[in-house]
Amino acid sequence: MILPIVAFGAPILRKKCSDISEDYPEFNSILSNMWETMYEANGVGLAAPQINRDIRLFLIDTTPFFEEEEEEEEEKKRNEIIVKQAFINARILEESGDEWEFNEGCLSIPDLREDVSRKSIIKIEYLDENFKKHIKTYDGLTARVIQHEYDHINGILFTDKLTALRKRMIKGKLIDISKGKVSAKYKMRFPR
Ligand SMILES: [Zn+2]
Repeated sequence: MILPIVAFGAPILRKKCSDISEDYPEFNSILSNMWETMYEANGVGLAAPQINRDIRLFLIDTTPFFEEEEEEEEEKKRNEIIVKQAFINARILEESGDEWEFNEGCLSIPDLREDVSRKSIIKIEYLDENFKKHIKTYDGLTARVIQHEYDHINGILFTDKLTALRKRMIKGKLIDISKGKVSAKYKMRFPR
């Protein structure tokens, strides 16, 4: 089932989310609805607060970042880089490497993209969809998508990371989004 994506301005996007256990009600349907909702909106990541749940759950699928590499011999390499994974109760243990800028967007903030600077390597502990624990290191675009989604479960949005000047410049646009004055190609839920 496709769920509406919560827009900027909703209090749930500012909550520090809670860990869940294996017996969380309707976990499997929440998870499959989130995958469906993310793909419908052409996203590479989706966090639970964006579908109005304050739980530590997010998904990523980095396939679109690597789709353009069509060389057949590149296919094996590509499959190694693509990460399609649910992260439950995630904790970033370490961020390292150089800061680099990447133009980020967010399904909760349609039609707005800004360069955001983050460290390039992360080490993360999480449970997979079977509640099996993993500790993994990611870099590049995969690390970037995880950092963005991980921020969501801590109530942080990419617009928080901009300079004071950029924040002032996009303020009006963010207010418009919170009021529903934006056209997204997917279903959204607006706070006012
Ligand atoms: Zn986002």
